[in-house]
Amino acid sequence: MTDHSDLQGSPSCTPHYPELSGRVAVVTGAARGMGACFAAGLARQGVHVLGVDIDEATLQNTVREAHQTGLSTHHGSFEGLPCDVSSRSDIQKIAALAVQQFGRLDIWVNNAGIFPQTDVPSVDTKQITQTFQINVNGVFFGAQAAAEQMKHGGVIINMASVAAFRVRRGRAVYSATKAAVHNLTQSLAVELGGQGIRVNALAPGFIDTEMTNWVREIPGAMDKALSTIPLGRIGEPTDVLNALLFLVSDAAAYVSGQTLGVDGGSRHG
Ligand code: NAD
Repeated sequence: MTDHSDLQGSPSCTPHYPELSGRVAVVTGAARGMGACFAAGLARQGVHVLGVDIDEATLQNTVREAHQTGLSTHHGSFEGLPCDVSSRSDIQKIAALAVQQFGRLDIWVNNAGIFPQTDVPSVDTKQITQTFQINVNGVFFGAQAAAEQMKHGGVIINMASVAAFRVRRGRAVYSATKAAVHNLTQSLAVELGGQGIRVNALAPGFIDTEMTNWVREIPGAMDKALSTIPLGRIGEPTDVLNALLFLVSDAAAYVSGQTLGVDGGSRHG
């Protein structure tokens, strides 16, 4: 048996994982699905979270429910604010508010997104414009506003998708936006690295949220989806939260410009 005692004693091998308490985060699309899970999950790590969404009523319910399940014991917080990510001024106000309220901004999660499904011949201008405005412009505005406020470095996480790498019928517009997010993540990492800002993306596969509910309504669609996932199950928002916690923590201090798949292997399925 190999003796690893020398390695365990080495101070240079002490992991920095995952001390997030006291940091300040903004999570977009926090009313439901993965955004709600990220906001509550970060708050449970002691992070002060401003969760923003265009659907304010659902957002406030989510905030209430998160508090009922015991956020306060972790010394973090989760507050909900209205914001349309396709509006640069909305985004700038939220970034400035985070600093005004908590004195700093450390983490920005560009999570909000929409998922239209239309075959190419029927895609209209409105769908192209709206999907790019939310899925791409929203990420761009978020990164710009965050970088302006992150005076002592920070972390930006963008939500890409397995769709950036693996196309399917009816998803041309969505896939193009997520490929753009993957690419934009690299440019942002290059340009913001000098400010001590790390930029990474997550590329989830099939995650169980309202966005993917339609699969349950079409006979045979779930079995078809499962057949493309090597791990044989659909993902939960917490699967993606765990990857996010790694990327925003100091455990990932030397990771930037990456898109991390959280897809049960489906990119290759
Ligand atoms: P969801 O539809 O459950 O939640 C998306 C949230 O974004 C909603 O609360 C919605 O109100 C909000 N939103 C939409 N437009 C907005 C706008 N203009 N401004 C502010 N908020 C807005 O989706 P989800 O499944 O939790 O997905 C979250 C992210 O992950 C999205 O970017 C999505 O494309 C991506 N993603 C999802 C999956 C999946 O299988 N669910 C897979 C890969 C990537």
